[in-house]
Amino acid sequence: MTSPTSSTELQHPLQTIVELNAPQMMHALVYKGSGVIEWIEVPKPLLEKPTDAIVRIIKTTICGTDLGIIKGKVPSVKAGTTLGHEGVGIIEEVGVAVKNVKKGDRVIISCITADGTCEYCKKQLYSHCEDGGWILGNLINGTQAQYVRIPHAANSLYAIPENADEEALVMLSDILPTGFEIGVLNGCVKPGDSIAIVGAGPIGIAALLTAQFYSPARIYMIDVDDNRLAMARKFGATNTINSATEDAVKKIMEQTKDGVDVCIEAVGLPATFDICQNIVRPGGHVANVGVHGHSVQLEIQKLWIQNITITMGLVNTNTTPMLLKSVASGKLDPARLITHHFELHEILKAYEVFGNASKEKVLKVILNADTL
Ligand SMILES: [Zn+2]
Ligand SMILES: [Zn+2]
Repeated sequence: MTSPTSSTELQHPLQTIVELNAPQMMHALVYKGSGVIEWIEVPKPLLEKPTDAIVRIIKTTICGTDLGIIKGKVPSVKAGTTLGHEGVGIIEEVGVAVKNVKKGDRVIISCITADGTCEYCKKQLYSHCEDGGWILGNLINGTQAQYVRIPHAANSLYAIPENADEEALVMLSDILPTGFEIGVLNGCVKPGDSIAIVGAGPIGIAALLTAQFYSPARIYMIDVDDNRLAMARKFGATNTINSATEDAVKKIMEQTKDGVDVCIEAVGLPATFDICQNIVRPGGHVANVGVHGHSVQLEIQKLWIQNITITMGLVNTNTTPMLLKSVASGKLDPARLITHHFELHEILKAYEVFGNASKEKVLKVILNADTL
């Protein structure tokens, strides 16, 4: 060997070490503070704990909650956080403690992280997990990126069957379990019930689809957008009311004996909660799903004597495995909620379209990372 060759051989490993130490980069949708989001390069996430997994995103979406974050309504989200809490991906790497999923598995990412061991997890109240809950795209970096780190991967990822419709399964990260658990199950929907759903957005439609597991006799859908009401009729609503042009309370009280058995609130405004408390019949249920930013006026002086139950809450995602079976068997087709598709790198455009839901006739968007 001549000396020049030796020096080349010496240089090469050194260069490799330098390259290994430099963080690998990826693109992510980063919240920069009130009103500002950017699609920028950030370091690719790494395993931090043995219970973590790194997932390469295949498909993700935007939630109404993300729009709330951008408007500064969720103060827990700090500038610099990657948004997003929904998606389907492929596991790139798992920590040594993760035994039930492995590299290469396709998984649904739950919007709720659960350690599976704390007092709340033991009660299936995963939303209040002492080392989890809703943290993705909130307290830690989320899914609107090429890669995401998922803590407590064993309890927060769900392996998906082969040949499953991955787009449809993105709806299982958040909106389907939310509409089902907090709307339909909390509302105790039963066969033969009359139910009303206030708000025909993605969550209201998720409640509409899953309420039909129980064959209610009548489903009223109330919204201010005629296009969404038309979609609701296609998805199984028997009656629709545009509350911008009609008095929803008057109409429902005229058409029922004394109100509905179950009223699901899927908007989160004092006016929409008010509709619910005025159309629920004695012995009925008001299931609040909407995210409220202000207090509401509770008509307790009228309601106390009527044996009404009012429930509210954050999704636990404990029904995700059951919903996954319903989707896989074709009993439930959440792909019908998807109205728009974008490439992941077009996410700023997707936010603009999703933010103008009424004008753009959007329900759910899918961001596709396949071709990046
Ligand atoms: Zn969400
Ligand atoms: Zn827990």
